[in-house]
Amino acid sequence: MKTQSQLIAKFGNPEVNRLPFENKWMKVWIVPADIRKAIPAMPEKIYLNKLIEAPLEKALRSLISHGMHEEIKTWNGCFNIRKKRGSSGISAHAFGIAVDLNAATNPFRGAVTWSKEFLQVWRDIGWICGADWSPASKDGMHFQWEGF
Ligand SMILES: [Zn+2]
Repeated sequence: MKTQSQLIAKFGNPEVNRLPFENKWMKVWIVPADIRKAIPAMPEKIYLNKLIEAPLEKALRSLISHGMHEEIKTWNGCFNIRKKRGSSGISAHAFGIAVDLNAATNPFRGAVTWSKEFLQVWRDIGWICGADWSPASKDGMHFQWEGF
């Protein structure tokens, strides 16, 4: 896990310099039609940090190829300038480098309903799974990219 200082060193602080951050790092990704057909929960467009476009597409295509994409029931967002849940730190969502899925069934500090194989697909590509965090910070809906 990168520290908040490392993330700010790379991206700047989106809380205090939002527009420069967005202009430099954020983009609209048009989700490919074949991915949306396989995973109807995915939106048409995702506003994300450009560094996560390729690994997010890779994860989704890997899930589809393994037949695990049907576990995704809801898309619950990416970019959101806010603090971490239960913390004063800046959320990875404020940098546009995290996505939330199936929030209702994988709540913060609650149950994780993903299969172990589903989570392993994300880990194998280099994603951090909030499902792996300690009970106080466990966040099963949360997938975070720090492969930069
Ligand atoms: Zn999250």
